[in-house]
Amino acid sequence: MIKDNLNAVRTSLKSGVQLVAISKYHPVSAVEEAYAEGQRVFGESREQELRIKYDTLPKDIEWHFIGHLQTNKVKYIAPYISMIEAVDSMKLMKEIERQAEKNQRTIDILLELHLAQEETKSGMTPEECRQLLAEGLWREMKHVRICGIMMMASNTDDEAQIRSEFLAARDFFDEVKEQYFKDDDSFSVKSYGMSGDYLIAQECGSNHVRVGSRIFA
Ligand SMILES: *Cc1c(COP(=O)(O)O)cnc(C)c1O
Repeated sequence: MIKDNLNAVRTSLKSGVQLVAISKYHPVSAVEEAYAEGQRVFGESREQELRIKYDTLPKDIEWHFIGHLQTNKVKYIAPYISMIEAVDSMKLMKEIERQAEKNQRTIDILLELHLAQEETKSGMTPEECRQLLAEGLWREMKHVRICGIMMMASNTDDEAQIRSEFLAARDFFDEVKEQYFKDDDSFSVKSYGMSGDYLIAQECGSNHVRVGSRIFA
């Protein structure tokens, strides 16, 4: 079933849209099934669960950390993580820089935006994010590479609402790209869209969707 689900999702994606298979809460065997179909990019939201999968599974998997990351957990994933998607503060970014340097590597990150209606969702407001970029500290971080933005839309059936949040994310990406990353080709990732809304997301400019239950459930 994972095989069929995965291939159905792939078929529905526009070319150039990266699929991150979100394997959280699913066993190693589920990742192996997707791996056998050629999937190499997976996302997890808990450090311990990720560690077990990282240790067990083939090393050519690219792991993305998609959940809220506590600063005291950065050191555990820094040796091997490919991308940390939900960076929501300068404090966290500084710790990623510190740990990446220790490991003599560069870690790709995304800036997590809060655009949804729910208060509970994490991420920076556009204003907080503008402020972080304007302060300019990130320019001195040689081991952190800001590759784009990430966000989650409101958990609602109101498609117009979801669409307006995705479009706000796209506009914000364009604004920041123009202002800070015009000549930086690695600033290119618009990470939005999950199982329930990734088709809308890709209509609204997403080029990086995080799909879990649609593949693994
Ligand atoms: C769980 C999760 C997903 C995937 O959600 P599905 O609805 O299972 O596709 C995507 N992004 C984040 C940040 C998640 O926590």
